[in-house]
Amino acid sequence: MSEPIKFAVNEKGYYGNFGGAYIPEMLYPNVEELRQKYLGIIGEPSFKAELDALLKDYVGRPTPLYYAKRLSEKYKTNIYLKREDLCHTGAHKVNNTLGQIILAKRLGKTRIIAETGAGQHGVATATACALMGLQCVVYMGEVDIQRQAPNVLRMKMLGAEVRAATCGSRTLKDATNEAMRDWISNPVDTYYIIGSVVGPHPYPDMVARFQSIISEEIKWQLKEKTGNEDPDYVVACVGGGSNAAGAFYHYLDNEKVTLVAAEAAGMGISTGHSAATTALGFSGVLHGSKTILMQSDDGQIVEPYSISAGLDYPGIGPLHAHLFESKRGKFFSITDEEALTSALELCRLEGIIPALETSHALACLPYLKAKANETVVINLSGRGDKDLDTYMKRLGLE
Ligand SMILES: *Cc1c(COP(=O)(O)O)cnc(C)c1O
Repeated sequence: MSEPIKFAVNEKGYYGNFGGAYIPEMLYPNVEELRQKYLGIIGEPSFKAELDALLKDYVGRPTPLYYAKRLSEKYKTNIYLKREDLCHTGAHKVNNTLGQIILAKRLGKTRIIAETGAGQHGVATATACALMGLQCVVYMGEVDIQRQAPNVLRMKMLGAEVRAATCGSRTLKDATNEAMRDWISNPVDTYYIIGSVVGPHPYPDMVARFQSIISEEIKWQLKEKTGNEDPDYVVACVGGGSNAAGAFYHYLDNEKVTLVAAEAAGMGISTGHSAATTALGFSGVLHGSKTILMQSDDGQIVEPYSISAGLDYPGIGPLHAHLFESKRGKFFSITDEEALTSALELCRLEGIIPALETSHALACLPYLKAKANETVVINLSGRGDKDLDTYMKRLGLE
């Protein structure tokens, strides 16, 4: 496989100007233990064997690479969909939580904590904990607990304890603070599973490696179907950026492949109701790493907005900040309306209901202007069952 060299994280945890580990001193021992051990542990043949077996029989990998014939006809190009929506739990997040929980066990940890905004990462973590028989505590903002009730029920059904963060805006960043506090108080037995390519080094690199299975499979699947393992475009939506990092990973250094990232513009980038980080943000520190984030001139985080809970995040992972700054990645800001239109299009042309997050990636298609002899791979990060209410209301289908 073609591991990135040029776009790999460096010794100090940086991608270009972004990354690092900006953490309170009290958290240093936990993060340092992880930094020293993660590559050794995930490189062990027995680790790989345990994870591969679960990815195959529990998650259902390899996920199909599907030639979308009617969608291709419409856009007059060749479109393949990487079906992460067919993973157990309905999205890519489980690739990462399984990897991290096996790592946690090998570090001798018995208790897992996580934070979640929309609840998707909480569900993927609760799933992994149930599978492994480990205690699971998920921190979630009080406001999000109300907004995302079905995922709270799923977590409880799976045996996790959901703890409400009741400070501040009572959303994701407050839940993150609570989780950090918990980790500081329980450094010996507890492991903190982060759900995207964000947080202090080594998390962004570690999560990207666990999600890199996506592009590993795309390469051989595309070769099998077209004779060429390299598409012209790989397209993915970016919240924190984990499904995009996984879909890009083995193509990062191959500049013949255009990497396309879809950010949520919400109601439009100039409306004040947006989550288009690269369009609106600038360099700062968020959740333990230096990256691009939406902030006021005096550095206060600006509350993001998107119709899609999974993209409603004020930053992006440091790898993506570097892809943006270096122009290796092409970033599009996709509005709620554009995402909704693309969701319905995929339903009606291909019989697939995509997650609202994923619909943002699909909405890049009109902008790409891909040619008839070119190949586009779109990472279908998740399925849309969780979003049916929103689709019904906003598309006037009720
Ligand atoms: C959580 C989620 C995302 C956004 O997270 P990334 O880390 O950017 O991948 C995208 N799609 C789906 C279906 C999700 O559940």
